[in-house]
Amino acid sequence: VSGARTDAVALTCAAAEAHARENDQAATFPVEALATMRRTRLLGLMVPADYGGGGGTLSELVDATIELGRADLSVALIFAMHCQQVAALARCASDRLRAHALPAVADGTIYLASVTTEPGKGGDLLISDSATEQVRAALRIDREAPIVTGGRHADAFLVTVRTPGATSPAQVDLVYAARDQLRLEVLGDWRPLGMRATESVPMRLAGTVPEWQVVGEHGEFRKIATTVFGPVAHIGWAAAWLGTAAGAYSRVVRHIRGPAGRSRFNPASQLLLTRLAATRARLEMVNALLRHTVSVVSSGEDVATPPVQLLINTLKTEAADSCFRAVDELVELTGLQGGYLAGSPLRLERAFRDLRSASLNYGNDRLRLANGSLALMDSGLRFA
Ligand SMILES: Cc1cc2nc3c(=O)[nH]c(=O)nc-3n(C[C@H](O)[C@H](O)[C@H](O)COP(=O)(O)OP(=O)(O)OC[C@H]3O[C@@H](n4cnc5c(N)ncnc54)[C@H](O)[C@@H]3O)c2cc1C
Repeated sequence: VSGARTDAVALTCAAAEAHARENDQAATFPVEALATMRRTRLLGLMVPADYGGGGGTLSELVDATIELGRADLSVALIFAMHCQQVAALARCASDRLRAHALPAVADGTIYLASVTTEPGKGGDLLISDSATEQVRAALRIDREAPIVTGGRHADAFLVTVRTPGATSPAQVDLVYAARDQLRLEVLGDWRPLGMRATESVPMRLAGTVPEWQVVGEHGEFRKIATTVFGPVAHIGWAAAWLGTAAGAYSRVVRHIRGPAGRSRFNPASQLLLTRLAATRARLEMVNALLRHTVSVVSSGEDVATPPVQLLINTLKTEAADSCFRAVDELVELTGLQGGYLAGSPLRLERAFRDLRSASLNYGNDRLRLANGSLALMDSGLRFA
């Protein structure tokens, strides 16, 4: 099984690398990499084996995502976000919804997109301004989404909406909606600095879905976010960012050691060596934090406690900052020709633009605000 998985990851990396430049330039979705993930059943990695999936662990998700990140950050993020949705279904959905959706994810038929951001509330995950209406045993949804990764290509969506009849915006449902249950309208274009191949378009989603497609109980999104959605998102994103920064770093080291680099760089230069060491140290720390977070989250410990939530949020904020800084340092180290120009074979320019999104992809400021409050609740400073 693990050999097949390694092949699936390698084939997806090859498809991603072959088209990364054109998808970046045109800001178009990596359809070739998605087709490979479907064909090789990599999309089913996090589906439990009982439903025909790969039964992947968080460590396996991290390993696969790091490899994809070395090839292309957009592809790695698309994969990690899909796996986050799958983990939420596998852990929190009813038997009926699991039996309905998971076998189709396992066989590569369903790529799942995420709809949590809303126009008014920005990135505040735990509230929703999108009212729903209960129509007998169904929910009527009509929701704007300013940024939906792969929205044009997804086969189904997990959408946050306000619980029908809610008295507060904090009563939020997570709803599974298949593409053919929705009227989808793309409301604008996608012209970002980086992450261009995620094709994260603004959309309107409207339709009626049966009530059994609510994930878990009504109003349970906060619990899902705390126990599954948040942890798996932060772990998956950190792996994607680390993969891209590690890929950039190894291209630079190979270049310095190769024939072209030897004429430009002096491997005995103390400036070069201390810079390489400092950047490597950043990546070592992200890797250590990532692996530690995976082991804590996988251990069965209650993830809702302040020390564990602090750890999960810290992984996101520090991985976002450190991976971007690492590539910034590599640009400085390799200079204008090697680091800054878009045509350079070191491909730092795209990694730099892509990684600039990391602190914004669920705002670091929001998480640090949350962590400040959590820190006040943990006066003994107990490390998870
Ligand atoms: C490549 C990419 C793909 C994405 N894909 C999706 C997707 O598929 N689906 C989806 O739903 N979303 C997606 N997002 C959205 C993402 O996860 C964030 O939720 C969103 O980018 C936040 O938007 P914002 O920065 O405009 O808003 P905000 O989170 O509101 O933040 C804006 C800025 O305001 C400040 N700020 C605002 N409020 C506070 C506060 N209370 N405390 C502290 N600071 C505050 C911060 O400085 C923050 O950086 C994606 C984002 C990226 C970058």
